[in-house]
Formats: sequence, structure tokens, C-alpha cells
Amino acid sequence: MPILLLTFLTLVVLASVFLPSVWRQHRRNRIQQQPFPASWRQILKRRMPYFRALPADLQLQLKKLIQVFVVEKQFVGCAGLVVTDEMKVTIAAQACLLLLNKPLHYYPKLQQILIYPGAFVVPAKQADAAGVVSESTQVHLGQSWQSGQIVLSWVDTLQSAAICNDGHNLVIHEFAHQLDQLKGLATGAPLLSNKAAYQEWSQVLSFEFEQLQRQLALGVPTLFDAYAATNPAEFFAVISEVFFEQAELFATQHPALYQQLKSFYALDPLSWQHTHPVLS
Ligand SMILES: [Zn+2]
Repeated sequence: MPILLLTFLTLVVLASVFLPSVWRQHRRNRIQQQPFPASWRQILKRRMPYFRALPADLQLQLKKLIQVFVVEKQFVGCAGLVVTDEMKVTIAAQACLLLLNKPLHYYPKLQQILIYPGAFVVPAKQADAAGVVSESTQVHLGQSWQSGQIVLSWVDTLQSAAICNDGHNLVIHEFAHQLDQLKGLATGAPLLSNKAAYQEWSQVLSFEFEQLQRQLALGVPTLFDAYAATNPAEFFAVISEVFFEQAELFATQHPALYQQLKSFYALDPLSWQHTHPVLS
């Protein structure tokens, strides 16, 4: 093959790989250069007390993340719900807490956020021991699908934002699953930087997961909701809720586990919840 043609084809391949990401970054920069709308600031003030507790630099980061998130993700109202800016900003603000200090990543697989007015019913198939499949329905407040959708109950999204120190947050829960699903099926081990990090993560989380199961079996009170003991994926989602909402209790009762999440999220909620408790 003539050298010129080969060079041309190489350039075409390189351009098709790199240009979309360069263009995407350029578009994100332009979005973030826009002023944060005053009406959105009011929504944060009214709906998300957590925002006030964040240090100023993280508040600024969060606003910029929200701006891009709202533009890039499609919000779909379900069961007659009409999507408003208030819904978009309240969801984006909680979802983007998990992205702080990780600037290049906006849940790349996620395309749509489906919003129901309240709890929603989902058809479910279950096989018994003999392999006989029965069909039923299940009531959900939220779901995260690895195919690129998150489903949320608006009432519970609002409640999650309003009560920011009870260790329960539907949006953080579902978006933690979405982080876990970046590599495929949710397993409780999201993408980590290297093999040693995976080993440490696996060691600490397995120990804590099994300890939780033992404590629940004995009826011992636990910081983490019993739902965390369902499987390792739910464990990661539930402890993420507690990490953001009850950092002090978490760090005191489970220091090694807190350290793992602090390192994964590149955040230390303990440092700001000490000085500006989200309780106020
Ligand atoms: Zn879950």
C-alpha cells in the first residue's frame, strides 16, 4: 500500500477516535462558561440543603457539573408527569455529588432519566427451584439499568434531597449503581485505578459485607440498612448513601470502609460535615 494512502487512513482513524471527545470537551467547556441560572440557584437553595454544607470550591464544581448533566441527559416524564427544571436540577445536583473531583466523567453510559410521580410498578419474572417461571409485579422507588436508563420516583427524589442526614438517598443509591455498571453488570466493585486497589477494595468490602450479614442475623443494630446485605452491589449503593449523608458515624464505626469510599469518590464528606453539619 502506498505510504501516502497508509498515512491518510491512519489520520482518518485517529481523527474518528479523538475528534468526538475533543468536540465533546469543547462543548462542555462552553456550557460551563454560561452563568449558572439564578432560578436554578433558587432550586438548590429551596430543595437541597446539602448544597449549603459543601465547601465553596465543591459548590462551584457541582454547579458546573449540573449545567453539563442537564444538557447531556434526557429527562422523561412517566405516568403523565411533566418534567420541570426543578426536577432536572434536583436530580442532577444529587447525581453529580458522586462526580465531584472526577471532572471527565458524566455517567457515560447513561442516556435517559425516567421520572415517575411516585413509586412505580414493574413486571417481574421469578423462577422457583423446579425452574417454573411465574410472573408478578414489584413496586420500586428507583432503578438503574446498565443499558443506559435510571428510573426515579419524584416524591422520593424530593425527600432524599430535603432530608440530607438520615443515610437514605434514592438518587445517590441509583447513581452509585450506575457507576458500578460502567464496567457491565453491577458487582459492588466499580472501576478502580489498579489491581492493588481492587484487592484492597475486595478485602475490606467482603469483610464488612459478611460482618453486616452476621450482625443482622444476630439482631445487632447496624448503621447500614438491612437492604445492604442483599448482595455486594446493593451493599456498595447503600454504603454510598451513608458515606455522603452520615460521614461522621460512618468514619467512626467503619474506618477502613470509609477510607475505601473516600479514596474511590476522591472526597472526604467528614471534613465538611464537621465544620458545616448538614444537620442544621
Ligand atoms: Zn439498589
